[in-house]
Amino acid sequence: MRKCVVASGILIEGGRALMVYHERLGVWLYPGGHVEQGETPSEAVVREFREETGLVVEPVGTTLGISGDGVVEEPLPFAVLRETVRYPHETHIHYDLVFLVRRLGGSLNNGMWISEAELDGLKTYTNVRQVLRRAFSAVR
Ligand SMILES: [Zn+2]
Repeated sequence: MRKCVVASGILIEGGRALMVYHERLGVWLYPGGHVEQGETPSEAVVREFREETGLVVEPVGTTLGISGDGVVEEPLPFAVLRETVRYPHETHIHYDLVFLVRRLGGSLNNGMWISEAELDGLKTYTNVRQVLRRAFSAVR
């Protein structure tokens, strides 16, 4: 089975998370997508956010204070998920690095803000609801 590394980002502002509608899957997801050749996962999150929402973001997260010898430490993902994705004509595995992100700029041209209270009524996957609940708690 094909395995791909994907990366996604959760932007929470004013108690609401930014979601985009995934046409092919028919669900609301936080922005994200495949990590392309020559791209790091955090670069993929930044690119996907810009493409899907118009916003410029950067991943944020825990760091251990590692540096030197040309090493730049990147923020830890908020969650790492292995997902079985069933598209109509193929099934593949996504190794999904989910980052918390913060907005740097850009202007929003797509997406929907949802509160924690609206999560239950949202057409999405159980794991997405779970990750978002934990993210809402983490940024509270
Ligand atoms: Zn894939």
